[in-house]
Amino acid sequence: MQLRLINRVHLSVFIILLLGYAGFGPLLYGLELAALETLAIFMLLNLVALYALLPLFMPWIAARDIRAIQAVLTGLKQGNFRVPIQIAPQPQDPNDENELNRLKRDIERMRASIYTRESMVHRQSERILKLNEALRREATTDRLTGLYNSRYFWERMEDCLEAYWHHGTAFSLALLDIDFFKRVNDTYGHLGGDRVLASLGALLRGNARDSDIAARLGGEEFVLILPGATATATASLLDRLHQQLRTTPIVLDDDRSIQVTASIGYTTLGEPGSATIDHPDHASPQEIVKRADEALYWVKRHGRDAVMSWDALPIPPTTPISKHQHSKQCGYVRTSA
Ligand code: GH3
Ligand code: MG
Ligand code: MG
Repeated sequence: MQLRLINRVHLSVFIILLLGYAGFGPLLYGLELAALETLAIFMLLNLVALYALLPLFMPWIAARDIRAIQAVLTGLKQGNFRVPIQIAPQPQDPNDENELNRLKRDIERMRASIYTRESMVHRQSERILKLNEALRREATTDRLTGLYNSRYFWERMEDCLEAYWHHGTAFSLALLDIDFFKRVNDTYGHLGGDRVLASLGALLRGNARDSDIAARLGGEEFVLILPGATATATASLLDRLHQQLRTTPIVLDDDRSIQVTASIGYTTLGEPGSATIDHPDHASPQEIVKRADEALYWVKRHGRDAVMSWDALPIPPTTPISKHQHSKQCGYVRTSA
């Protein structure tokens, strides 16, 4: 049964007085005192009993509930909305409800609604984070191949050049172009062509290290940035890629298989003795790509299906390198969500 505060106080005082009567009554009984004296001493003793025993009743009267309210309010202030406050069931007649219990009920309602809103905000912010991540991926990825798109490639190129100029970090840039791709489309249809592009994407991904950037520049042209790669390492990776592509048939849904080749041109920056480290005051990403492109088109003009370095071109390279001001990191950069 719930008692309102005033009733709890009354009941406590009544019990204490009863105890006082039971305790002190017999003591006074034997004394030969005037009735008034007896009454005065009896009242005095009861007053002492009241002072001594009332604190023992305080937790039941109000202190326990106040402590519980304090604890939950401290939790709320610290952002802990999870733990519910204990409440006694509401009596049939709401007027009979203890005032502190009613207060606890109100606080509990408030806590529960803050907790619900908090959880909702938390879920929504998680959804927004996921959406942001998906958008970022969408903005930097080529759908067909799963490689990076050209936009991301150009951003990273700027960073690689910056790292090269400031820290001497070597890197290689390779351009790949599928040979006679138009014929593939003409023979196997656009979907067949798409399958070839996707397979080349998978091949590049499979051969790239975590720090490498493999991107589709557009159409049937692909690009690789290999941070920290020497000319020798670059040549051996590209030879391997070139061989893998020309020896791996791409099987279509109707079981027909396509065999394609690619022409590859590349250039390496930062290699000691390399012709590419001249002209320190002139470099732009476009100029580096142009070098790889020159090597690629040399291959195209000389029968396709081969790998060529810009440094090994028979005609002396002419593309100047101009310096750019940036401060980023070369290679794949993991962005936090
Ligand atoms: P080369 O050996 O000189 O590079 O000849 P090529 O036929 O590969 O080059 P060309 O530039 O003449 O043709 C490229 C073709 O790529 C033309 C275009 O229809 C096709 N193409 C571009 N983008 C896509 C694509 O997303 N999917 C498919 N299936 N084909 C594409
Ligand atoms: Mg092309
Ligand atoms: Mg081509």
